[in-house]
Amino acid sequence: MTCTNCGQEISDSAYVCPYCGARTPISYQQPVAPPANNDMAIAGLILAFFIPIVGLILSCIGLHNSKQMNGAGRGMSIAGIVISVVLMVFAIIFVIVYVVVLIEVLNAVADGIGDQLNDPNTYVGLAAMVRAKLPF
Ligand SMILES: [Zn+2]
Repeated sequence: MTCTNCGQEISDSAYVCPYCGARTPISYQQPVAPPANNDMAIAGLILAFFIPIVGLILSCIGLHNSKQMNGAGRGMSIAGIVISVVLMVFAIIFVIVYVVVLIEVLNAVADGIGDQLNDPNTYVGLAAMVRAKLPF
């Protein structure tokens, strides 16, 4: 191409004229696209902490989208997937422990009531005895 400032023939890929230093038309073009925002990856990472199952789904979509966005949000998507999976595993373990403890407590309470039913010195046992003597 020809320099618009000095008229010298210069390389088509030159950003600046090597003769006069003037900028060439291509130097005004954006050489690389600005990094795109991977909104799904951002939403997925945030929701991973609050609603892990939704965070996991959005992070998977974000990871999928990042392939068409020059890898934008890829790390964030992977972080969102890892965090949501870890939190879901913790939640499952918590529920299992909670149910086991609840069953233990209910068993202990049931045992306690069973023992008291046969002991007239307790309110429960006394009530059971009185109830047994009632005709209705
Ligand atoms: Zn020039």
